[in-house]
Amino acid sequence: MAGPETHGTSLTPSPATGMTSGRLDDTIAAIATPPGSGAIGIVRVAGPRAFEVAAAVFRPAGGRRVRDLPGGRVTFGRVVDPDGEGARAAPAFVDEGVLLTFRAPRSYTGQDAVELQVHGGPAVLRAVLDACLRRGARAAEPGEFTLRAVASGRLDLAQAEAVLAMVEARSDAARRQASVGLSGALSEAIDAAQRELTSAYAAVLASLDYPEEGVPEARVEAPVADARARLERLLATASAGRFAARGARMAIVGRPNAGKSSLLNALLGYPRAIVADAPGTTRDYLEAPLELGRVSVTAVDTAGLRATADAVEAHGVARARELAAAADVVLALVDGTRPLEPEDLDLVAALERERTVWVASKADRPRVWDEAELGVTVRPVSSATGRGLDALRRELEARLEGDAAGEEAWVTSERQADALREAVEALARVPGAPADLQGLDLETALRALARITGRGDVAEDALAEVFARFCVGK
Ligand code: GDP
Repeated sequence: MAGPETHGTSLTPSPATGMTSGRLDDTIAAIATPPGSGAIGIVRVAGPRAFEVAAAVFRPAGGRRVRDLPGGRVTFGRVVDPDGEGARAAPAFVDEGVLLTFRAPRSYTGQDAVELQVHGGPAVLRAVLDACLRRGARAAEPGEFTLRAVASGRLDLAQAEAVLAMVEARSDAARRQASVGLSGALSEAIDAAQRELTSAYAAVLASLDYPEEGVPEARVEAPVADARARLERLLATASAGRFAARGARMAIVGRPNAGKSSLLNALLGYPRAIVADAPGTTRDYLEAPLELGRVSVTAVDTAGLRATADAVEAHGVARARELAAAADVVLALVDGTRPLEPEDLDLVAALERERTVWVASKADRPRVWDEAELGVTVRPVSSATGRGLDALRRELEARLEGDAAGEEAWVTSERQADALREAVEALARVPGAPADLQGLDLETALRALARITGRGDVAEDALAEVFARFCVGK
């Protein structure tokens, strides 16, 4: 990827992203805090003229000069509109606030940068931004600050995606996952594979130049097999990664009064669902956010399975099947204290084995039926005493995490998963192939990996794909 010395180069990923102007020597500005009113609002300015812009719009208290401020400094003062008409023909006073200064390369973008923290009203922020724009900054494109962080080598593309995931994280699980990405764990795994493949590629190229020497197997097939295994392990985390990034759905199914709402409450640790003795308390269905390991789950509790006076029992099963189809994992309850009914057996037949965890509920009381009668292995759980609850939680976590359990870095974006898949497929063709084809496949794999981190190859399309989703100010 380009280093800081590429200031002045044009980075123009794609017109499709809306990022038309990507010149790194422009100074860019944007409101970095969300729309609406808040205690504090921030206008961010980055680029070679950041301090010039700040000098025009900010007057430090105590008469210091903005241009002389070092990086890493917080300075109180007044924000002014240099073109506005204040009292006695002075620049118009806009707001009081603080100026945060960053000197290249020690800033988010790697460039000189300032942040103006003022009162968080939309009109105030607009006025501060306008003043900056009139004094030499231009309005930043979505994601442009982070794009610069990538361009300056402060972040790689996978980390930039993690920044986006961090901003979008709505659950603690998603946030933690994003922080792993930001730490560079995924990038390190990719880098390691890239190093192995690069040396294999070099060996193949050398053998093409000196065919009489042949391709030494130890220098190609062994590292390729190693890199492939590594990448396959990463790829196996993609499904859990998807759950971590976007959340998973868990359907809770079972006959009325089986204890679904009680179990949901027990898993949540607080009463979210209404529990009552009368069947049918859960009217249609109810959703609640639940954290299971590194995955955030939306639990869907349903009483739609209730066979009302004139509804046929099959209706409940059909509905359970429908809900289960839309779920990533199914928690199926059978009341341990009541005899099995045809509906329970129909559920067993209807639900997919791999995605379903079976629970015998109300395990604080004696169970009146046998597992063999039901035909599936059940976990005894009591919402009343908490018996079996931890084991159930672990089982659900294991189902959701699958092969990703125990791996530190998870693949969290489709973009990364696609690139990995392409690399793995190309590497699968390498063993035993003639050297020229090996060279082509290694090149394909290396290019695919470069798309993930943006390192090792010009990856303009990858840049465009990632930054198309950012907001202004990030
Ligand atoms: P749902 O209709 O499947 O959502 O079932 P509920 O959670 O509303 O529970 C139905 C009834 O079973 C209520 O009277 C609960 O108090 C009772 N119940 C639920 N879980 C347990 C449990 O673990 N032990 C005992 N003894 N009773 C339970």
